[in-house]
Amino acid sequence: SDVGPQKDRVVTEEEWLQKWELGNIGFHKEQVHPLLQKHLDLLLNGRSGLRIFFPLCGKAVEMKWLADMGHNVVGVEVSEQALKEFFSEHSLPYCEEPVPEISGGKLFQSTSGNISLYCCSIYDLSSTIVGKFDGVWDRGALVAVNPCDRQRYVSLMINLMEKNSSYLLVTVSYDPNKHKGPPFYVPESEVQSLFG
Ligand code: SAH
Repeated sequence: SDVGPQKDRVVTEEEWLQKWELGNIGFHKEQVHPLLQKHLDLLLNGRSGLRIFFPLCGKAVEMKWLADMGHNVVGVEVSEQALKEFFSEHSLPYCEEPVPEISGGKLFQSTSGNISLYCCSIYDLSSTIVGKFDGVWDRGALVAVNPCDRQRYVSLMINLMEKNSSYLLVTVSYDPNKHKGPPFYVPESEVQSLFG
């Protein structure tokens, strides 16, 4: 678990925006993640009509999939382009409004009301603004956060969770000497210490 080589690496918001502009988005998948399909029952735990959070959501197709099952989906993403592509690729009408609590923040909400996507940094959010969640789908999120921001990110996520919530986390395992990330290598031991 040698995480040394990646610990000081920083990807700026501008770099993420540029990835979207250049279409450099190899992380985006057209199909629902097989691990979400496989472990859906762990996320739902027999419950219906959940509030499910997608940190660093991109244009993840799983948001539409879960919304179609009757859940309320909330996401956050710095790229406005990503959010607009999400709605247009699924032919979903939406409206756009400013978020008074967040300078420059915008909320894109499906007209049907069950998909609410915040365009801002995740670090601008709080439970006062978005409420708390029954479930979290964290794929391409903890592993995309800069290593120096992991503790802050996880503290926020814990704050956004209801008492009986479930958190599905996807990580990747590889030799961090061979690839600079993202996705970053977050070893199991670090997941344990971050989430406690
Ligand atoms: N979870 C998505 C996207 C993964 S890529 C998926 O599964 O496809 C990580 C995404 O996080 C990128 O779209 C990037 O623009 C966004 N991002 C990076 N830093 C962010 C931040 N601080 N706040 C919100 N979004 C951020």
